[in-house]
Amino acid sequence: MEMGEISMEEKMSYVLSNCMCEKCSSYKNCSAEGGKKELGFCFPKIGKSVCITEEKGCICGSCPVYSKLGLRYMYYCTRGSEKDQMAM
Ligand code: SF4
Ligand code: SF4
Repeated sequence: MEMGEISMEEKMSYVLSNCMCEKCSSYKNCSAEGGKKELGFCFPKIGKSVCITEEKGCICGSCPVYSKLGLRYMYYCTRGSEKDQMAM
């Protein structure tokens, strides 16, 4: 799949279906706190988590999305999406 040729929606669904955050030690399932389960924090339309606040390691570097999209940052759940962090 060539990322340049797909729509934002398709890209987001690729990110969500390949995200590895649930295996990360920093991950908290917000649905356990009455919210919605979250994933794909690196994606611009998603960004920071509403319930993850503690950074206890980040496994984004080993995620297929990370290499596929040429990402460069970490801790998207606490620091914001790739785009947000690029602007900081
Ligand atoms: S790079 Fe990180 S935040 Fe983005 S999809 Fe992969 S595990 Fe999730
Ligand atoms: S963005 Fe990084 S630190 Fe946050 S849950 Fe995903 S893998 Fe873990």
